[in-house]
Amino acid sequence: MILTSELKELLYNEGASLVGFGDISALNHDGFTSCAALAVKIPAGVIAGIGSGPTRDYFDQYHALNKKLDSLAELAAGYLTERGCKALAQTTTTVAESPGYSTPVPHKTCATRAGLGWIGRSALLVTKEYGPAVRLSSVLTDAEFDRAAEPVNASLCGGCTACTAACPGGAITGALWDVGTYREELVDVNACRRAARALAAELIGEKITLCGKCIEVCPYTKSYLKKENAL
Ligand code: SF4
Ligand code: SF4
Repeated sequence: MILTSELKELLYNEGASLVGFGDISALNHDGFTSCAALAVKIPAGVIAGIGSGPTRDYFDQYHALNKKLDSLAELAAGYLTERGCKALAQTTTTVAESPGYSTPVPHKTCATRAGLGWIGRSALLVTKEYGPAVRLSSVLTDAEFDRAAEPVNASLCGGCTACTAACPGGAITGALWDVGTYREELVDVNACRRAARALAAELIGEKITLCGKCIEVCPYTKSYLKKENAL
């Protein structure tokens, strides 16, 4: 039995913003029955700066936070394997080496199973604490955790349509998520990619899919920014 309080403390001390543990046995993936979900907040000042599109600061943070998340996921996986559990850190390297160039189990699936938040109209994970202003990672494992979270199965977006209205690519359909919803029902991925690449090329001269408007306008993000005096 793995003590979640001990592993949580370790990860928070190393810079995690949110940590949760969930049951993924229903996914039947390669003997992995549970997961650790990790989130690191995007600094409030960086988000406050992307009202008109992606900035150099946002671009730099994107890479720095991915690196931080990789090291947190490796740390959690090491902790679990030392205690005799099977564990796979879903790092950027794991993704790069996978056949479909994707995580074996999406970080967002792990995050909802681990109670970190719900999937917003924007198809991003939305947390009560930071809105969608987080980056995610996860670890798949067969560990038995002493405390698994209640999974989140329904959206808390309510009547809000801020991201749908603000999307420069018209990519967000406005549908409300529940646990059976596919990403394609929420967002036209190609329309998002086109708009985000055009913005990143125009504003920071980078060939990358980076926009952030649906993060910046979310009322849950705004609450986070207010708390941090960034608005
Ligand atoms: S990242 Fe930008 S283009 Fe893509 S869905 Fe969000 S607001 Fe729309
Ligand atoms: S902006 Fe509104 S609809 Fe979009 S994810 Fe946030 S709460 Fe949900």
